[in-house]
Amino acid sequence: MMRSFAGTVVGHYINGQWGSGQGREVIEVHSPSDGRAVGAVVAGTAEDVNKAVDAASSAFPAWAQTSPAERIRLVERLIIEIERGREALASVLTDEMGSPLAFARAAQVGVAVADLRELVAAARAHDSEWEVSNSLVISEPVGVVAAITPWNFPLHQISLKVGAALLAGCTVVLKPSEIAPLNAAMLAGMFEAAGFPPGVFNVVFGNGESVGDPLVTHPKVDMVTFTGSRNVGERISIRASASIKRVTLELGGKSAAVILDDAHVGDSVSAVLRSAFANTGQTCAALTRVLVPSSLRDVWIKQALDESRKWTPGRPEEESTILGPLASAQQLERVRQHIRRAIQDGAEVVTGGAGMVTGLEDGAFVYPTIFNNVTPQMQLFHEEVFGPVLAITSYETIEEAVALANDSIYGLSGGVFSADDARAIDVARQMRTGTVGINGAGLDVGAPFGGYKQSGNGRECGTLGFEEFLETKSVMGARKP
Ligand code: NAP
Repeated sequence: MMRSFAGTVVGHYINGQWGSGQGREVIEVHSPSDGRAVGAVVAGTAEDVNKAVDAASSAFPAWAQTSPAERIRLVERLIIEIERGREALASVLTDEMGSPLAFARAAQVGVAVADLRELVAAARAHDSEWEVSNSLVISEPVGVVAAITPWNFPLHQISLKVGAALLAGCTVVLKPSEIAPLNAAMLAGMFEAAGFPPGVFNVVFGNGESVGDPLVTHPKVDMVTFTGSRNVGERISIRASASIKRVTLELGGKSAAVILDDAHVGDSVSAVLRSAFANTGQTCAALTRVLVPSSLRDVWIKQALDESRKWTPGRPEEESTILGPLASAQQLERVRQHIRRAIQDGAEVVTGGAGMVTGLEDGAFVYPTIFNNVTPQMQLFHEEVFGPVLAITSYETIEEAVALANDSIYGLSGGVFSADDARAIDVARQMRTGTVGINGAGLDVGAPFGGYKQSGNGRECGTLGFEEFLETKSVMGARKP
């Protein structure tokens, strides 16, 4: 299913039909690698949102009545379609967000498939009726779900939301990011090929104000599931509260890696740099602050400097590239601004900086950057950069390390590195975050994922991710038939 979007305008996908782009305002999509136009989507309006929500609302009663086995069957067919289209999806992601091709195949598409498989397993194991006290308890789908997603792991974020919602019996209107909407268009084609009934899955393209806000405030939308920045999450919570919708938020992070004094230095360096630099640092759970014991600081920094040389920026279409461009020119400017500010605040540049990358000045490329002597008084210690920028802070005692790790409005993720599992788990227990990786363990899409504090609420992935889309009804005085 190779499909190029260059020179085309993709319309919305509503009620099983592709809308036309003719005569409509469009959003052009550009490669962040060289600025080339790679496609365009219709810029949606509140009227488009109304049509999509009406379609999802009309499709809901019949879809909610389908058996879990039927929903699982269709999602398994979708997985087959995604696997068949892996190459095409990877190349669209490379085009629109600059994801290095090999990473797009393995991580962007590969993780989406793994997400759906875990959700299928959760749906299969789910018991939708049980007895308690004098009641029969029934779990039912929430209803019409609005899914609003960002651009950094677009297919993964869509799969987690849409997969769980559909398996639970909900119908969905998706608004993907305007920066990377083409993978969502390709995915909608795969829903069609998998045989989902019309109206069950709908896509409306457009920006946050014109499409996101009407979705969030729509009276027929029962739930909003959002992944994105903290500030937009706050706005969505406020806007959705007028109609008391369920809102689940997956927001930003400033996650700390705590290196204990018995950690393997080389292994911890490679794992932290991989976490901070993969996807060009545009990963919500990236370990972007490193807390190193003073006794290890110099050796850790020296090895980090050596290791950082592997992370040379390159064109994302090249198979050997591991560090592509940032997703947009706007993101590049934001990241460079953070780097300049950190320098002004007195952080010491170990490598990198805000300069344009030699030979790649036509794209949104930035050097991987490591700062030493970052203190809690600096902006870099607290703010999410969403670029390949690592902040090193040294500590004297474990208590101090834990306090530094928890000194954040965010609580998405963290890491602990130690030769002693019991010590590492003890520190992990003290971290106020939704996930903690021990010795570089990465995302586990079978385990709950989500944030403490201002990193959000609710959980995605696996069983808890599936259950977010269920309502619970107690039928009192009844037993299982
Ligand atoms: P963003 O600016 O918050 O946008 C996310 C989505 O919300 C986009 O589709 C955006 O639309 C839409 N939006 C913007 N304003 C809106 C409004 N007023 N009402 C409704 N929708 C609105 O985030 P981003 O820059 O795309 O993504 C990066 C952020 O996502 C980072 O903070 C990152 O940490 C976070 N993130 C979190 C997780 C997690 O699981 N916790 C995972 C990945 C990313 P348009 O941009 O198309 O206008």
